Amino acid sequence: MLHTIGGFDRIGEENAFAVLARATELAAQGRDIINLGIGQPDFKTPDHIVEAAIKALRDGQHGYTPATGIAPLREAVSADLLKRHGVETDPGNILIVPGGKVTMFMAILMFGEPGSEILYPDPGFPIYRSMIEFTGARPVPVPIREENDFAFSAEETLSLITDKTRLLILNSPANPTGGVTPRAEIEKLVAGLERFPDVAVMSDEIYSQMTYDGMEHVSLLGFPSLRDRLILLDGWSKTYAMTGWRMGFSLWPEGLIDKARKLAVNAWSCVNAPAQFGALAALTGPQTAVADMVREFDGRRKVTVDGLNAIEGISCRVPLGAFYAFPNIKQTGWKAKALASALLEETGVATIGGPDFGVLGEGYIRLSYANSTDNIRDALGRIEKFLNENR
Ligand code: PLP
Repeated sequence: MLHTIGGFDRIGEENAFAVLARATELAAQGRDIINLGIGQPDFKTPDHIVEAAIKALRDGQHGYTPATGIAPLREAVSADLLKRHGVETDPGNILIVPGGKVTMFMAILMFGEPGSEILYPDPGFPIYRSMIEFTGARPVPVPIREENDFAFSAEETLSLITDKTRLLILNSPANPTGGVTPRAEIEKLVAGLERFPDVAVMSDEIYSQMTYDGMEHVSLLGFPSLRDRLILLDGWSKTYAMTGWRMGFSLWPEGLIDKARKLAVNAWSCVNAPAQFGALAALTGPQTAVADMVREFDGRRKVTVDGLNAIEGISCRVPLGAFYAFPNIKQTGWKAKALASALLEETGVATIGGPDFGVLGEGYIRLSYANSTDNIRDALGRIEKFLNENR
């Protein structure tokens, strides 16, 4: 019997990948599957990005790069942060990582240890809790409530901070709810955090470019009082339809960047070189594809929300960001995971049960509307028919 460290008895995973595997399996058996489960754009990576990566390979860019990423890419990230958030950053504080997820892995490893507490959103991206558990720190869920339009409540978040709190994880626009925390609430939170100067903040802004109805994305980067303890997580996966490229970036404060760099050297040496050149083209090339994708998501969002609200027993708030709807299914009489599973097996529609995102996810399912409008309409029709026959 091999004995691994205790963390491996506690580490979790992301059920979206299990649902994806099952959906793929059913499709291989000839079933007509519509996947509203996994959260990834259904668009192709724009051509100029693909061409830049191919050219990099042909030009011989296939060796190791600096562990922090190629200099022009870190400079382009810094320029991008200035353009989007109006804040100057030092490219020396930017780390290129193999996917946005890696930043949370690193940040939680840095701060989690037995006896410490880490605050994370519930419902929220499942890896936050999984990694916190892995380190032995105590996971402290910050409730994200439907009646609050799935935004963070500054007051509730601050009330959960104790002298053991080491890290606060924020996520807006949010997975799985599509909630976007408004500026006033973020300002209140940041003002409150001044009372807790030893609490680090990791702001997961992977959906920063996906907001709707004029809703503003407020980056935590814009608050000078947080600069010496803010870890910013962002990347290319969602914005440029590059999930399989595994390209992300993070900004680290002065006191942490060298530790982050050392962790990178220990774990992966550097990120895939040609992918870095593709990511560079994404930031420096035309941004029209991003605007086009967001416009398309916006249209699908309306179809999804209207369709869900037309189904008896389901009510869905209008999500203001990301590409997820998180309808309340409590009136259907179904438990969320049982419903998600039945929908996949019986109707071929893949969704994710809310409890996969936390305790407060019971009573909800997540639908990703990163799929064609026709497929979304078809899926909603199948869900309605199934519920009418199985209440
Ligand atoms: N953060 C959130 C909130 C996400 O939803 C995801 C992906 O689903 C990630 C981070 C990870 O992104 P990546 O695919 O770049 O690792």
